[in-house]
Amino acid sequence: MPSPFREEHDQFRTTVRKFAEKELLPFVDEWEKAENFPNEVFKRAGELGVFGAHYPEEVGGGGGDFWFSVVKSEELVRGGMAGVTMGLLVQGDMATPVIADLGTKEQIAEFLTPALRGEKIAALGVSEPNAGSDVAGIQTWAKKDDDDYVINGAKTYITNGTRADFVTLLVKTNPDAGAKGCSFFLVPTKTKGFGVSKKLKKIGNHSSDTAELHFEDMRIPARYRLGEENMGFMYLMQNFQSERIIACASACAGGGVMLEESIQYGRDRKAFGKPIIKREYWQHKFVDLTAKLEAARALTYKGAECYNDDKYVKKDNVSLDTVKTISLAKIFVGDVMTEIADQCLQFHGGWGYIEEFHIARVWRDQRLFRIGGGTTETMRYYVAKLMGL
Ligand SMILES: Cc1cc2nc3c(=O)[nH]c(=O)nc-3n(C[C@H](O)[C@H](O)[C@H](O)COP(=O)(O)OP(=O)(O)OC[C@H]3O[C@@H](n4cnc5c(N)ncnc54)[C@H](O)[C@@H]3O)c2cc1C
Repeated sequence: MPSPFREEHDQFRTTVRKFAEKELLPFVDEWEKAENFPNEVFKRAGELGVFGAHYPEEVGGGGGDFWFSVVKSEELVRGGMAGVTMGLLVQGDMATPVIADLGTKEQIAEFLTPALRGEKIAALGVSEPNAGSDVAGIQTWAKKDDDDYVINGAKTYITNGTRADFVTLLVKTNPDAGAKGCSFFLVPTKTKGFGVSKKLKKIGNHSSDTAELHFEDMRIPARYRLGEENMGFMYLMQNFQSERIIACASACAGGGVMLEESIQYGRDRKAFGKPIIKREYWQHKFVDLTAKLEAARALTYKGAECYNDDKYVKKDNVSLDTVKTISLAKIFVGDVMTEIADQCLQFHGGWGYIEEFHIARVWRDQRLFRIGGGTTETMRYYVAKLMGL
């Protein structure tokens, strides 16, 4: 596949890399310890066009294609914190694409454009205490009441949830209709009845905040419903595709950093009289891991190319072939990243287990990849269905 990146992508890459290395990386220890990063980071990323590069100019974006989003997710990794990368990707690639696709002029002006500028923080509310993979099983209910909806229920694992200005929320509008009874709403978090139940403690991605939310008789005007009533599940399945392939791009970039840093470590660390990287055992290991990483990146780029063709060239819905490619990428990238992280930690010996070393944090953080945004097992379940098995 010829390189999908043109000069303008390369310029954008330089901007995001500088931002990550100069404005994120120096704060790793502070923000990981604080289990959060400052709201100003959203503002700064917005000013630099980090969120909006792949959105149309009419909604406040840069008018670029999907490859801008790939570049962004690859370069944010250089900030050294998967938590910050995740918070920023939720803002630009998970909670907001559905607003660009379906939003009214007023919804775009009130929610999307300020989010792309980093002036409002966005969260995506799908998962619930009793329903994650099986999204059709959500129970939060928006009951119609004249021109409003009254929402009751709870969401969990919500990234940016403790400080979001609005949540792109999936709820049931017909509780008896399964997948055909879900709708999206845009919910300002200052609405009466909205509450943050708690901030969740995680084993990794410490610099991001993850919340459990509750809604008690939360009254939302019908003008905040996004798209058609009861079509939310279909919209979400479309939205998931960009989220998943962007996560793959970010994971592969992280895998590259792990390999680079580990190989450098192995040049300096000696055992039995020579650098450990000079041991054939490890040389072959790194060759194999490099091959697997290249394969993972190639499948990711194929998924990104399919997505770009569907949404940016044909300006259509995501096709089932694209869903299959992206799901395969999510499976393969997950397995490869787990292996790279584990082998790189092993290569560091005891230092791999000590917090001072980047690899210790990455090993913990990357574990989320096989769970978040669709588990590896559910990806296999979908692909088996698509293959007619
Ligand atoms: C740090 C973090 C951040 C997150 N951020 C967000 C967010 O911002 N917004 C949001 O809405 N959600 C978010 N999530 C939720 C995430 O998307 C879910 O955790 C994920 O979709 C899995 O759902 P679950 O946790 O309910 O697992 P479950 O659905 O309960 O799955 C449990 C196990 O059963 C397996 N399983 C389920 N179905 C099948 C099947 N058909 N075949 C085989 N095995 C199956 C799963 O693979 C898994 O191993 C986040 C999660 C975490 C941990």
